[in-house]
Amino acid sequence: MSYRAVNPYDGKVIKEFTPSTDAEVEQALSAAETFYQQAKKQSFEQRAAQLAKLAAEFTKNCDYYARFITTNMGKLIADARAEVNKTAAFAQYYVDYGAAALENQDYSVIAKQPAHLEFSSIGAIVAVEPWNFPYTQVMRVFAPNFILGNPVILKHASIVPECAQAFETACQAADIPTGAFKNLFASYDQVNTMISDPRVQGVALTGSEKAGAKIAAAAGQNIKKSTMELGGTDVCVVLDDADLAKAVVGAAKGRLNNSGQVCTAAKRYLVQDGIYDKFLAALKQEFAKYQPGDPLDEKTTLAPLSSKSAQEHLQKQVKDVLAGGAEVLWGNPEPISGPGAFFNPLIITGMQFDNPMYDQELFGPVAQIYRVTDEADILKIANHSNYGLGGAIYSEDLTAARQLAAKIETGQVAINQPLASIPELPFGGIKHSGYGRELSDLGIREFANIKTVLG
Ligand code: NAP
Repeated sequence: MSYRAVNPYDGKVIKEFTPSTDAEVEQALSAAETFYQQAKKQSFEQRAAQLAKLAAEFTKNCDYYARFITTNMGKLIADARAEVNKTAAFAQYYVDYGAAALENQDYSVIAKQPAHLEFSSIGAIVAVEPWNFPYTQVMRVFAPNFILGNPVILKHASIVPECAQAFETACQAADIPTGAFKNLFASYDQVNTMISDPRVQGVALTGSEKAGAKIAAAAGQNIKKSTMELGGTDVCVVLDDADLAKAVVGAAKGRLNNSGQVCTAAKRYLVQDGIYDKFLAALKQEFAKYQPGDPLDEKTTLAPLSSKSAQEHLQKQVKDVLAGGAEVLWGNPEPISGPGAFFNPLIITGMQFDNPMYDQELFGPVAQIYRVTDEADILKIANHSNYGLGGAIYSEDLTAARQLAAKIETGQVAINQPLASIPELPFGGIKHSGYGRELSDLGIREFANIKTVLG
């Protein structure tokens, strides 16, 4: 297994990393256990002060950390800076509210006895994370667990090793105690070894459905708690009364942000009959504004995909989508040659339920569009999916939009804006999009011992 940073813009190898040895895995587990035991003697507030230093480190050296994102996985540099700042914001949220979310909670019981819940740490958590948001995804697991007193051992995606290392460097710069966070360039076998180790009490995965099935099975076999943040085929519903300009800009951004490599991207546009033609015409113009180029150049609007293999995989998927009966409504489906992992944005129509690719996640700038009539039609398509991550609705009638949101079978829906992760709000899915929630007060309790005390 190789951990290699290759620039997806020019295909040049930046740096290769030596895989972690079994001895290093053992060292990480041992240091994690030491931190876990020591942290029990500290208050949540003490660790909040340390986490504040980590947030400040990311903010202060934003450009330094952002560059690794862009060179390792291709994100536009402005978006990479935004990610670094969001990483800091996730940490700061738990600095400000983490301890409060873990305060004892009183419960009343019928026999009128006092009862309360206490929240405490359980042990080390293994975090297996993806490349598409290489720092925020890690912070979503690290910040709440650090406040709680659970150490985190990271196995990051093999294509963003400099980001993984930079996160560890940031922790060291912020004097996060040894053992509280460790990056390992671990193999799949070593991940399984860690999951079965009694010092590890949980595993958090963000990634594909395939990886989710494997890691969840390993966790299940060892009776360990897990959270699964997996893929999605989110809808973006545009109702007749939508503000057209807002819907078009939001829908395009929702699909093309990060070159379409976002779990909650607007992968399926469901557009009501009355606005369909105007929406599509404006959408084509909006898509045309996204132009590929060097992601380090501030003027570039469309980044490459994360790797050549991601480009090849998406090309194959699009070929299969078209072979299954769908057609390209806008854009050039021909592969882009050259060393960069670029992919032309596409708008595809005619995707039927019997297309073998119907429920596949297309992780790139490929949008599907459907003309829909009424609510029943919208829900028939929206809920015809094994996934259930998120969605967006554009309508000027907030009440109607909220009523529709309640009927969409996903973990989250945004109204009149693309769905994004916000520290105060729970983030996660249902069905094959996974289970558990990150961020917010729910996120910090996922790996807590929620102890009931009666009397
Ligand atoms: P991936 O291939 O599943 O990889 C995710 C992570 O899992 C990587 O670190 C990968 O390591 C590791 N991994 C894969 N199989 C494993 C196994 N059998 N044992 C141990 N580790 C394993 O996914 P990806 O391509 O990086 O990320 C894209 C996917 O993530 C999409 O489906 C996207 O929707 C989803 N995602 C979901 C959320 C959410 O919050 N719901 C957020 C972001 C992304 P290697 O790199 O070494 O293979």
